[in-house]
Amino acid sequence: MPKPDKNEMGVTVKKSDDISEWYTQVIQKAELAEYTGVSGCMIFRPRAYAIWEKLQYFFDTEIKKLGVQNAYFPLFIPEALLKRESEHVAGFAPEVAWVTQGGDSKLNERLAVRPTSETIMYDAYAKWIRSHRDLPLKINQWVNVVRWEFKHPVPFLRSREFLWQEGHTVHAKKDDAETEVLTILEIYRRVFEEMLAIPVFKGKKSVNEKFAGADYSTSVETIVPSGKAVQAATSHHLGQRFAKSFGIEFLDEDGQKKLPFQNSWGFSTRSIGAMILFHGDDKGLVIPPKVAPMHAVIVPILFDDTKEKVLKAANKLKELLKDFAVLLDDRDSYTPGWKFNEWELKGVPLRIEVGPKDVVNDNVVVVRRDTGEKCVVRTKEVAGKVKELLDGIQKNLFERAKSWLKENTADVKNWDEFSKAVEQKKLIRAAWCEKTECAEQIKEKTEGVKVLNIPFEQPKKVSDECAHCKSSAKIVALFAKSY
Ligand SMILES: [Zn+2]
Repeated sequence: MPKPDKNEMGVTVKKSDDISEWYTQVIQKAELAEYTGVSGCMIFRPRAYAIWEKLQYFFDTEIKKLGVQNAYFPLFIPEALLKRESEHVAGFAPEVAWVTQGGDSKLNERLAVRPTSETIMYDAYAKWIRSHRDLPLKINQWVNVVRWEFKHPVPFLRSREFLWQEGHTVHAKKDDAETEVLTILEIYRRVFEEMLAIPVFKGKKSVNEKFAGADYSTSVETIVPSGKAVQAATSHHLGQRFAKSFGIEFLDEDGQKKLPFQNSWGFSTRSIGAMILFHGDDKGLVIPPKVAPMHAVIVPILFDDTKEKVLKAANKLKELLKDFAVLLDDRDSYTPGWKFNEWELKGVPLRIEVGPKDVVNDNVVVVRRDTGEKCVVRTKEVAGKVKELLDGIQKNLFERAKSWLKENTADVKNWDEFSKAVEQKKLIRAAWCEKTECAEQIKEKTEGVKVLNIPFEQPKKVSDECAHCKSSAKIVALFAKSY
């Protein structure tokens, strides 16, 4: 078998030199994604899909504790249905992909490829909800959605088709609905901070950035090392607007017909893009252990005269680590050094080396992907040590990400400081007047900086004046350019 040249296989550009080229190389060379003939539509290769499955499992388990059930609604939405809620359709119309023809015949009514599923779900909800006993109704679906973006597509972060979950719940009481908005947002925070080791800010979206058709939207936001923000997940309170448009009513305990209150919430495979950018380094991908499809790879150091003994020890080691996802890389057509590079590129959290000397000493060498640190471990203690190291890596990645975020957050007082922080691609915290026209002017002057959210945990205000228009400001908002 030909041995590919190390340089050709590895990432050839430094993350700090050209992060977008670095990103493009990492997702392809680490076998996460593949481009296709349709711009903005990518293949999620098994290594990326396995990360998505870990996130799905975590989130799915948490929402089921809240009584949410999974279902599936159709991909195609009749045009009339999509148009029923005017603000909603206005928000999505520019990026809807339409099916107009089946075989050779033109369809009587255009069908939208779902950009999100409020309309098709709520049309059914109107049939299912009759009485207060039918509430709360809590349904989630794990599906793909299509938003025909015209901006430059970036795999995972900005693609025309992506995978997500969308939860759609209906409540008799406004209070219950609003409590759920925050409960879900907290689970999203945990998805990012506990699983992906990415620090996020929870907050409320500004009026001009809220979901089309919502009363208000909340989000978790972060900025990644390319200097762009990622809206990591959103949880919306829809109020009664959709209930009105779709005729969802229920007979309450007091015998009165009432409109229920609704929420919708979602997070997507964009989270994987944020993870790649946050933790990866010049050698390639770094995957936090909690979402890593493979925890460790065992690389035996093979020589002709000791091969048998070493392989036996490596197999025994794999057995000792049966509680973890471990691969024994015993391919003999590749050198150990080549394998080290390959698994570093692919981001496996731990590498375990076993050579002839280790067999004699009953040791193994364990190497951390995040720090490159090596340690010699007694074979019989390896399982405990692997557990400890994986926990340590998860924690270290989060701490590292938090200090990076702290260094790259700027508290600004005025427009001068604001503009400087935009140039430095920082996450900006500034007092803001909350006026839509002010947000629009900021976006125009900075070529795209927008209000990410208004954090619930308000940082200390450094000024009482809006950093842009100088009118009075009650709150501090987060600003950055975003994907
Ligand atoms: Zn202002």
